[in-house]
Amino acid sequence: MSARLFAFRPVDGALRSDALGDGAFFAPRGTLLVSRRKKFHRGVDLLVTPGEHVRAPADGVVVRRGTVYVTGVSFGLVEVACGSVIHRVLYIDPTVAAGDTVRTGSTIGLAQDLRLRYGPRIKPHIHWETMLTGVLLDKGKKNHHKVWVNPLTLTHAVVPPLVSG
Ligand SMILES: [Zn+2]
Repeated sequence: MSARLFAFRPVDGALRSDALGDGAFFAPRGTLLVSRRKKFHRGVDLLVTPGEHVRAPADGVVVRRGTVYVTGVSFGLVEVACGSVIHRVLYIDPTVAAGDTVRTGSTIGLAQDLRLRYGPRIKPHIHWETMLTGVLLDKGKKNHHKVWVNPLTLTHAVVPPLVSG
């Protein structure tokens, strides 16, 4: 298993856009009350049919299986690490456990139904975000920054130009 940025979509569904939110990467997500810093969507929301299989975006190891909300109807999450690349998928009922090795495309969980928490105005979706860890930022003061990349930009293979000689 080698770390790589190339990734596959966990589901085939389109980008979410509904009365409760825009599922695009970097879409506005309000403002933090204390610091007044603007928040942005760190991943993409992809539409699902509840119960459908959600696939591992890459070869890797399951480093976390968790719960999204503390109160009310809760949902699951799975994180798959491939070297310094971590894929986090939310709103799934996990079928894998921490420590499991997964292959690209293998099932990591079943899509859940967010309408059970938010009502009919939300379209069922998964949230998929990709972090690069151990990143040194030029002007950063911390050594262990992580940054988020748009996972959909990793799903298109870039073919390098042929170099002769
Ligand atoms: Zn989201």
